[in-house]
Amino acid sequence: MTKLAAGTTACLGVALATYAVRGRSSTFFGPSVYRGATDRPSLALTFDDGPSESTPGLLALLAAHGVTGTFFQCGANVERLPEAARAVREAGHEIGNHGYSHAPFYLRSAAFIHGELERAQRAIQRVAGISPRLMRAPFGARWFGLRSAQRRLGLLGVMWTDLALDWKLSAGRIVDRVAPRVRPGSILCFHDGRELQPNPDIRSTLQSLERLIPMLLSRGFSFETVSQLLCPKN
Ligand SMILES: [Zn+2]
Repeated sequence: MTKLAAGTTACLGVALATYAVRGRSSTFFGPSVYRGATDRPSLALTFDDGPSESTPGLLALLAAHGVTGTFFQCGANVERLPEAARAVREAGHEIGNHGYSHAPFYLRSAAFIHGELERAQRAIQRVAGISPRLMRAPFGARWFGLRSAQRRLGLLGVMWTDLALDWKLSAGRIVDRVAPRVRPGSILCFHDGRELQPNPDIRSTLQSLERLIPMLLSRGFSFETVSQLLCPKN
């Protein structure tokens, strides 16, 4: 492990502990963050519901711009498309846990919530060779039992500062919506899948990022993984 990676891991542990104690009201069901450090002009791109058949196209786009992001993957998709899941990891992106089947946690039992997260955790570990430290609940819906599941699995919840709504908006509307809102520490939520659907159409996502990334780079922003973004540097 490099010195930088070790530092990031230590910082994440502190974030996990401190946010559990003094997080804002949205952490009621479990420790959760919704933005990163604001001491530098950096943001995090996050992608939910992958991997999918459309993920390689997104990886190519990010690589062309030299940008890394964080992918909250569904365990069932990881098992269905192991090469795509591994490609995300091998390209230097961070992988988080988005549950196994994308079933919402709302109104479900603690055992169900733990089972969904644990099964996804095992799938990602087996296929991509890493144990995620971050999770995002499907649909962002938290419920009783999530806190204990997170504690047992060592997972910090990650929400977002802004949703791109990329599953329903055109590329132009995504850019118009997201670009003016980006601030230091922003965590933006996009999608490289549609729950467990095969062959999802993510053209709006790709076309919007093709415009947004150069725009944000020209405004002086850097792109970091969520774990990097959570660590103050100054
Ligand atoms: Zn999702």
